[in-house]
Amino acid sequence: MLTLICKQTSGFTLRAQGVRMIGSCIPKDKIDDFPVKNEPVLTYLKGSAERKNLEKALEETASQIEDVPIIIGDKEIRNNNVRYQVMPHNHQKKIAKFYYADKKEIQSAIDVAVKAQKQWDNVPISKRLKIWEKAANLMANEYRAKLNATTMLGQAKTIVQAEIDAAAELIDFFRMNAYFFKEALKYQPISENPKVTLNSMRYRGIDGFIAAVSPFNFTAIGGNLAYTPALVGNAVLWKPSDTALLSNYTIFKILREAGVPPGVVNFVPADGPDFGDTITASKHFAGLNFTGSVPTFNRLWKQVGQNIDKYINFPRLIGECGGKNYHFVHPSADIKTVIPATIRSSFEFCGQKCSACSRMYVPESLWPKIKDGLLEERSKLKIGDPTKIENFTSAVIDDKAFDRIKGYIEHAKNSSNLTILGGGKCDNSVGYFIEPTIVHTTDPLDKIMTEEIFGPVLTIYVYKDNTLDETLKLVESSTPFALTGAVFAQDESFLKRALEELKITAGNFYVNDKSTGSVVGQQPFGGGRMSGTNDKAGGPHYTLRWASPQAIKETFVPQTEIYYPYMHGK
Ligand code: NAD
Repeated sequence: MLTLICKQTSGFTLRAQGVRMIGSCIPKDKIDDFPVKNEPVLTYLKGSAERKNLEKALEETASQIEDVPIIIGDKEIRNNNVRYQVMPHNHQKKIAKFYYADKKEIQSAIDVAVKAQKQWDNVPISKRLKIWEKAANLMANEYRAKLNATTMLGQAKTIVQAEIDAAAELIDFFRMNAYFFKEALKYQPISENPKVTLNSMRYRGIDGFIAAVSPFNFTAIGGNLAYTPALVGNAVLWKPSDTALLSNYTIFKILREAGVPPGVVNFVPADGPDFGDTITASKHFAGLNFTGSVPTFNRLWKQVGQNIDKYINFPRLIGECGGKNYHFVHPSADIKTVIPATIRSSFEFCGQKCSACSRMYVPESLWPKIKDGLLEERSKLKIGDPTKIENFTSAVIDDKAFDRIKGYIEHAKNSSNLTILGGGKCDNSVGYFIEPTIVHTTDPLDKIMTEEIFGPVLTIYVYKDNTLDETLKLVESSTPFALTGAVFAQDESFLKRALEELKITAGNFYVNDKSTGSVVGQQPFGGGRMSGTNDKAGGPHYTLRWASPQAIKETFVPQTEIYYPYMHGK
C-alpha cells in the first residue's frame, strides 16, 4: 500500500496511508469523541419503510400544484406576478404556483427583517440551538419524504441524489452548524486576574439584514444559506431559486414549525435583478450569503461597491460560485477506480453539481483502456423520469440550461479540434433531456475545456506520458476557477508532487476519488479564485462569518490614577 507524508502548517509530519492521508492527520480519539454524527443515507430498497413513505409523498406532490406565497413576517402575500415551477423531466407538469415579490414587497421584507433582528438577537442561543435540533429531527423523520419528493420532482433528482442532498446534507447542516456554533462559544479571552479584570466575548448578529440567494441545484444549500446567519442572530431575506422553489418552501415551513419566529427568515421569491438591486440599495444591507454563478455574484459585488457609502455596516459577502473541475490521471493510476469515479462525477445529476468533473487529462499509455471503459459504461446509463428506479440520471433543470449545454455540444460537433465519442443527443420535447456526452479534444484550451458548462458534458485531453510537467501546468492555468479537482495515481512521489503543484487549483482536492460528494463536517466545501470566497460551508468557521463579536472588559478594582509613576519623578 502506498504511503504519503502529511505535512501540516504547524510543521510536523505524519506518515499516512494512501487515500486516508488527510484523515489520519487527526488523532483517532477526536473522531470517536465527535458528538455529532452525519445523518445516515437511507437505502430505499424495495419494501423498506423509507421507500413506501417516499412513494406516497411523490404521488401527493405530483398530484397537485402547491400554492407557495411570498412570506414576509407573519403575512402571506399573493400578487398578480404569478409563476410556476415545472418538472424538468416533464415540463408540461406544474408542481408549484408562486409569486414574484416586486421591489416594494422586497423593501417591506427588509423593514420587517430589520425590526425582527433586534428581538431575535436577544433570544438566548440555547433556545435557538434547540430550535435547530428540532428542525433537524423533523427533517430526518416527518418531513424526510416530502423534502425528497419535492426535490426529485422539482429538480429532477433520482432517489439517491435527493436523499444525499435534501435529507442527509440538509440535516447535517442544521446539526453540525449548531454544534460548531456551540463549540465556538466556548472560547473566552484571557483574564489574567479575573478578580481584577474579567474579559469575555459574546457573539451578536449584525444589525440590519442578510440576503440569502440560493441556487437550484442543492436543496440543502438553500437551507444553509438562509438559516446559518439566522442561527447566529441575524434576520434574513431568502430569495430561493425559481427552479427549487417547492423544496425550499418545505424547508421554510419546517423551520417555522420548529419555532423560528415570523420575520427572522422571510421567504421572498423574486426576479433576480429586482431582488439584487433592492437589497444592495438599502442602508441596512449587512451581508450576502450567495451560491450561484460568477456573473451573478460579480454583479452583486459591483452594486455593493457602488453603494458602499450608504451602508451602516460593511456588508459581509460570501459567494460560492462555479467550477471547471478536473480529473487528472497519472500513468500509474488504477483504471478500475478512474472509470466509475469519472462516470459518477461527470454525469450524476446531469453534471449540474458545482463540483462535477468536466475536464479530464489522460496519459496516452492508458487512453485505449480508459476510453473503452468510459464509453462502455456511458452507453449503459439510463436517462429518464427520476422516480423510475432504473434511471441513473434525468433532465437538466430548464430551457436556459438546455440551450446553453446544447450550445457546447453543437460547438463540439462543429469544431475540428473536438470529436464526440459518445452521446451528444438533446431532446426537449417532453423534458430537458441531454445525453451524457464524452468529447475528445486535441486543444486543451478550447472553451469546452475552460468554461463552466454545468451539464453532462465531459471533455478529455490525452497527453503524452513524457509531457507530464506541461500538463500539470495546464491544469493549473487553463481556467479562472479553483473549486474541486482529483488526481488518480498509485505513484507516491507523483502524489506528493501533485499535492504541491496543484495546491491552488482546488478548494476541495481528492486523491484517488471523484471530484464530487463532499460531506458536511467531513470535507468542508468551497473553492478559491473565481470559484468563490472559500468560506467552507460545512466547516467549523462558517457560522462565525455571520457573527459580530463583542469583546467585554469588566474592571473590578477602580482605576483612579491619571498620571504614570515615572511622571511623579520616581
Ligand atoms: P445563478 O447565478 O443563475 O442563480 C443563483 C441565484 O441568484 C438564483 O436564485 C437566481 O435567481 C439569483 N439571481 C440571478 N440574478 C440575480 C441578481 N441580479 N441579483 C440577485 N440574485 C440574482 O446560478 P444557478 O444556475 O442557480 O446555479 C448554478 C451555479 O451555481 C453554477 O455556476 C454552480 O457552479 C454554482 N454553484 C456553486 C456551488 C458552490 O458551493 N461553489 C454550489 C452550487 C452551485
